[in-house]
Amino acid sequence: MTKEELWQAILGDLELSLSKANFTTWFKKTFISLVEDDHIVISVPNDFTKTWLEKKYHKAILETLQNLTDDKIKKIIYKIEVKAIANAANLETSPMAASVKVETRHKINEFGLNPQYSFSRFVVGKNNELAHAACQHVAKSPGEKYNPLFIYSGVGLGKTHLMQAVGHQIIEKFRKKKILYASCEKFTNDYIQAVREGNAKEFKNLYRNVDLLLIDDIQFMTGKEGTQEEFFHTFNELHQKNKQIVITSDRPPKAIPGLEERLSSRFGWGMITDISKPDLEMRTAIFRSKCQEKNYALTEDIANYVASYIQNNIRELEGALNKIIAFHELNNTIPTIDSVKAIISNLISQPRQGATTPRQLIKLISEFYEIKLEDLLGVRRTKTLALPRQIAMYLLRTELNTSYPAIGQELGNRDHTTAIHACNKIKKEIENESRIKQDIEMIKQRLYAM
Ligand code: ADP
Ligand code: MG
Repeated sequence: MTKEELWQAILGDLELSLSKANFTTWFKKTFISLVEDDHIVISVPNDFTKTWLEKKYHKAILETLQNLTDDKIKKIIYKIEVKAIANAANLETSPMAASVKVETRHKINEFGLNPQYSFSRFVVGKNNELAHAACQHVAKSPGEKYNPLFIYSGVGLGKTHLMQAVGHQIIEKFRKKKILYASCEKFTNDYIQAVREGNAKEFKNLYRNVDLLLIDDIQFMTGKEGTQEEFFHTFNELHQKNKQIVITSDRPPKAIPGLEERLSSRFGWGMITDISKPDLEMRTAIFRSKCQEKNYALTEDIANYVASYIQNNIRELEGALNKIIAFHELNNTIPTIDSVKAIISNLISQPRQGATTPRQLIKLISEFYEIKLEDLLGVRRTKTLALPRQIAMYLLRTELNTSYPAIGQELGNRDHTTAIHACNKIKKEIENESRIKQDIEMIKQRLYAM
């Protein structure tokens, strides 16, 4: 078995026990770079992934590995390797992904933009009309009025699509303008790599010489001081030169914990706008437009049915459509309201592993610290239980905005004063204890990945 085959086999196994989001988050860009007598080296793209794999998935990886190699391998070393992604895990072709592969993958163009994310494919409605208007304005007169333009919303509601539409339009209209789209993760990784390799000049050249800079999901800059510092200077230089900046986030600037005040205040200099959840009418309209794009005909009552049941976001709506198409193509049948109902009820009855409810967040924390849920909710107060419990309370408050009495109730019917005390304590400890800060960051990273 080659290194690649070995890794594919391990991933195939792990994929079955993880949610798609988790799997992609932690195993994207990983690969085996070395197999030697009794150990292997797994290359990972960044520090976060390294810690996460070591902490959470090591046991599972080792077990699968030993099964496959007759216990020959005793040790795994995780190594950060930012550059070598050429032979990294190709998650799109893993066995599970292949079975639902109707969704057409689109090539990303030279600017890092997805060609599908254009204004012409964006459905405008009450929930996004302001954000849309602001983006159109910026695409017409970049660097003039709304600079920076800051868009926020929950996941899957069209931020990336809209910001990339600005990019497409500017490329089309002003052929000479330089544009750059980067996820916050890419900006961070590029920066870390530049520092490590002493290429600061090249990095600056790349990010400070553009007419349009699109930074996606800025909330991931939380707690990364070096990156924030660099972004601060990038921002200032571009802004001074009247170059357009567009930023997205899952929440407004002031609500991003761990984001420096000098940045969050700058993000308010131009225009801040949000996209809210689409109502039924809007979901139906978008669903219809997605069917049209895929050239797939569904009756009106089927479209209405899907849109009324899939309420969270547009990405899920697209996911449902892909499942419907896949199912009927594989079985060579025509969709009926009953066959679609069966697929949708399957989709919505699967408990989402996300931390959208307090209970899910608490479960995530018990898994993270490898303690039993009953113990986390129980009465014992040993240190190994007390800290995770307090962190759970803190995160319920900061991430899900849960009230203190509700927090107390969620965590084994405790008093609301206990919750207040825990939140204050953790808030202080984050400042002094880097381990706690790091734990919380990893939990949040996972939370956002759901
Ligand atoms: P976000 O960045 O907010 O998480 P995305 O921009 O990735 O969300 O959108 C998720 C998916 O939903 C994308 O495939 C996008 O094309 C689609 N989508 C979201 N809003 C709309 C809309 N108003 N019209 C058409 N497609 C949309
Ligand atoms: Mg996005």
